Amino acid sequence: MIIGSPKEIKNHEYRVGLTPESVSELVAHGHEVLIETGAGEGIGATDEAYAAAGASLTDVETLFSRADIVVKVKEPQAVERKRLRAGQTLYTYLHLAPDADQTRDLIDSGATCIAYETVTAPGGGLPLLRPMSQVAGRMSVQAGAHALEKAQGGRGMLLGGVPGVAPAKVIVIGGGVVGRNAAQMAVGMGADVTVLDRSNDVLEDIDRQFGGQVRTVYSTATALEQLVQTADMVIGAVLIPGAAAPKLVTRAMLKTMMPGAVVVDVAIDQGGCFETSRATTHQDPIYVEEGVVHYCVANMPGGVARTSTYALNNATLPHLLRLADLGVKAALERDVHLRAGLNVSAGKLTYEAVAEAQGLDW
Ligand code: NAD
Repeated sequence: MIIGSPKEIKNHEYRVGLTPESVSELVAHGHEVLIETGAGEGIGATDEAYAAAGASLTDVETLFSRADIVVKVKEPQAVERKRLRAGQTLYTYLHLAPDADQTRDLIDSGATCIAYETVTAPGGGLPLLRPMSQVAGRMSVQAGAHALEKAQGGRGMLLGGVPGVAPAKVIVIGGGVVGRNAAQMAVGMGADVTVLDRSNDVLEDIDRQFGGQVRTVYSTATALEQLVQTADMVIGAVLIPGAAAPKLVTRAMLKTMMPGAVVVDVAIDQGGCFETSRATTHQDPIYVEEGVVHYCVANMPGGVARTSTYALNNATLPHLLRLADLGVKAALERDVHLRAGLNVSAGKLTYEAVAEAQGLDW
């Protein structure tokens, strides 16, 4: 098969669909790989590295016209959607539910479109979203620690303190993938960490995982109200599948926080769990409201494009190899979890939640 990965064209997107290492694997399986010239620039992967891995460097038109499978990171932009064609497979994040224009264009293209975010795993969960949650969780602590510095408007506190000076208090709301990775980093930096969740199973798991180094608290409005008052950093990491994030920290609660305390709203991509959150960018990531520094970057993994690309490839490559080795049709027929990723096929919408969100047939 011919597999192609173009340069991402969405504003400030530096990740790329295939690493040189993934190219080597595909080539070793007998496939031809096309990489758009300069596609890996944003992660420090040079054209020479791709060529050494066995890829052919090409322009974007040739890539889209020849590739059987197009591998990307972000949803295809309008100009890319025009290049897709029947018989071709698109393998990338799509997030179609709120995006009627993209849905219509993908249906019209006749292509087979597999969305990373809806591929499932035998043990549950969303394995192609997981690496980005791991990245965002770990990054939230590093971003929050920076925001705690005086020059950023923070309290001027070091997360771990020093001998004789107490560490910062970090509250993590939500103990899922983001929350646990945040807790792990915060503990590693010596902070005093508390995780809240509504699931007792999650709280038990965290208690076991951290051997008592992390306090766990059942998440209620009252518990949160008390905890935020003495927190130096609050990380929002909740998810209610298929719904907007609940506004767990109200403006009134924020007003009781210490001046210069920091909130990192990782759930901002689902609307945010602080009433005062609004999405920010890597170029201008923080703002101050009610004296509290807010970090609300909606695409955190994009800020660490190299790590994110490698983490994403580790998750996407096994499925890609099956699609290429078996053929797309057979791979989808044999693997119910990969099939869960199929959102659009041969001119038809094939994913119920997207159809429901847009009032379309499927
Ligand atoms: P997850 O499903 O693994 O975990 C979410 C957790 O929230 C669950 O354990 C759930 O029990 C808990 N929860 C739900 N309601 C709660 C409440 N009222 N109080 C406390 N806990 C509650 O999800 P995840 O992968 O960790 O993702 C968390 C959020 O981070 C999502 O909104 C996701 O979209 C977002 N995210 C953002 C970025 C970014 O760049 N900003 C990147 C990755 C993920």
